[in-house]
Amino acid sequence: MDIRNVLAMKLNYLIDSLKALPKKARVALLLLPFGTVATLGALLSSNSPNPETTEGQKVDLAMDTLKMDDYPKDFFRNPLDIPINLSGNFGELRTNHFHAGIDIKTNQQEGLKVYAAGEGYVSRIKVSGVGYGYALYITHPNGFTTVYGHLQRYSAKIDEYLKKEQYKQELFAVDVFPSPQDLPVTKGEVVALSGNTGGSGGPHLHFEIRETVTEKTLNPLLFGFDVKDNIAPSINSIWLVPMSDSTWINGAQLPVSYPAVGSGANMGIKTTAAPVIYGDVGFAIHTSDMLNGNANRCGIYRIELFVDGLQVYGQRMNRLDFTTNRAMNAHTIYERFKKDRSQLHGSYRLPGNPLDIYDNLVNDGIVTFKDDQEHDLIYRVEDINGNKSMVKFKVKGTPKKGKLPPAKSVMAHFDWEKDNEFADDRLKISIPAYTLYEDLGFAYQEKGKMEGGLINTLLVASPYEPVHNKYTLCLKADKVPVKYRDKAVVVRYDPDKDKTTSEGGSHKDGWICAEPSYLGYFNLKIDTVAPSITPTTFKASMPGASSFSFKVSDWLSGIDQIIPKIDGKWVLMELDGKSGRLTCYYDKTRMTRGSHEFELTLIDFKGNTKVYKSRFTW
Ligand SMILES: [Zn+2]
Repeated sequence: MDIRNVLAMKLNYLIDSLKALPKKARVALLLLPFGTVATLGALLSSNSPNPETTEGQKVDLAMDTLKMDDYPKDFFRNPLDIPINLSGNFGELRTNHFHAGIDIKTNQQEGLKVYAAGEGYVSRIKVSGVGYGYALYITHPNGFTTVYGHLQRYSAKIDEYLKKEQYKQELFAVDVFPSPQDLPVTKGEVVALSGNTGGSGGPHLHFEIRETVTEKTLNPLLFGFDVKDNIAPSINSIWLVPMSDSTWINGAQLPVSYPAVGSGANMGIKTTAAPVIYGDVGFAIHTSDMLNGNANRCGIYRIELFVDGLQVYGQRMNRLDFTTNRAMNAHTIYERFKKDRSQLHGSYRLPGNPLDIYDNLVNDGIVTFKDDQEHDLIYRVEDINGNKSMVKFKVKGTPKKGKLPPAKSVMAHFDWEKDNEFADDRLKISIPAYTLYEDLGFAYQEKGKMEGGLINTLLVASPYEPVHNKYTLCLKADKVPVKYRDKAVVVRYDPDKDKTTSEGGSHKDGWICAEPSYLGYFNLKIDTVAPSITPTTFKASMPGASSFSFKVSDWLSGIDQIIPKIDGKWVLMELDGKSGRLTCYYDKTRMTRGSHEFELTLIDFKGNTKVYKSRFTW
């Protein structure tokens, strides 16, 4: 066995034993062994061929030890009858999530036939004015469920099943689970027409393959679909991120980025001198992939990071779990993503990040540099077809500690693994365990007025501190007139969108409490304004009309209930959340032509109610 293998085994043993220790001990120990790691790394590279590519040679990096999971390659057919071109792929970074499926282009049109990708039965029909809009789930006998989103219409038999449920529940937005006998489908059966419903930003088909039992979603491109891609991923930039309060990068304590230059396997970073690092640093990479014949960018499949020839980080977009998917915010550099939505992948794992996409992590991808040496780094990124790009660059360690900045004043120390609480006479906050991704020195500050705000805006921690779940925030209601306390909501201001939204809230013992899933700027407002209803195509006389529409909206707390009635009986109206369009389609089995009384009631989350009434003829 050569020295390289022996050392690698020792290192693995060291890492495994470290992983078994509690976190605090791990950190303490790693400060010491990291010298060891660096030395091992140096030895490894001096005792083995240089990992850098030379002409005609294979890349001599540690082999990618991850095996491709084996999924059936010929069970599913293309759910459309045009070639698959993607406007989005699996694992792309999106707001608060990794994209859990593929977005198949539909020639910028709606109404393309959508086919069952395999035999099975309709196991779920979910209708909403937001999210996936009209969505359909088909469960197949081989343990997988396919999901079709943003549909325009369902096939006649599915539509009739759905309408019965909607009329039974007297609701537009329903989530129903037919039994296997109710709606069986054959492979290639037309089950729907493609559309643009829900949160869709243009006509396309959102398609997912899930493991039926776990509901984890899998990369559909592992199932043998014909998607052409022989273009290597592009790499825009490399980031260096301080991982502790004592880290210094080029003499400062801020993230630093370097543009990537070159192409393919021979990329580098644009700089005249290697970045100089003291302390714990994380690396990040802005990278995306292009597919043949498409001008848009998609997400990356695999990222690996090597330091002095040793892999310290790997990630792969094979499978995602909806319960952890929001941790995308901990995976990217959250502030950067919030500002420009770039496909920026961190290559370090924050302690409370529960994502299951990582492999080959050494010290969670965090590397410590304290020696006076240059170190070789390599990022290797890969698309699902195996096209690769590589960036090689150097960083220089320094033993010179920077002068520590004055400690920030904090009001409480919040531990990501524990339930945390803080309260004073203006604010009460309660953040459950596993809601933060890392420990937080908690503080809040007053930040002046907000239009319509009843108190001075409070900056609670930071809008750039992501949270995984809802937490409880209560603001003192003493500035809210007593008679309006039941109409008060907590509002949040997003500085990047320059937008204020309601977080809801209820009055309790002189406090207004809400459950936001963001930190940042908060205030209190009163909502006494009823929703608005504007007829768009509705008229008193519209003989032969096949539909009529209204535009509905609410000023602050949002629409809670929509109750449309004809002659006193509930009727189905379809809501498009994007435009606020509410439409009633003539349904000859449930409606009659002629003269009727129409009544539409809208109630917002603070109980403000608007009623629109009119006689009409159609
Ligand atoms: Zn999608």
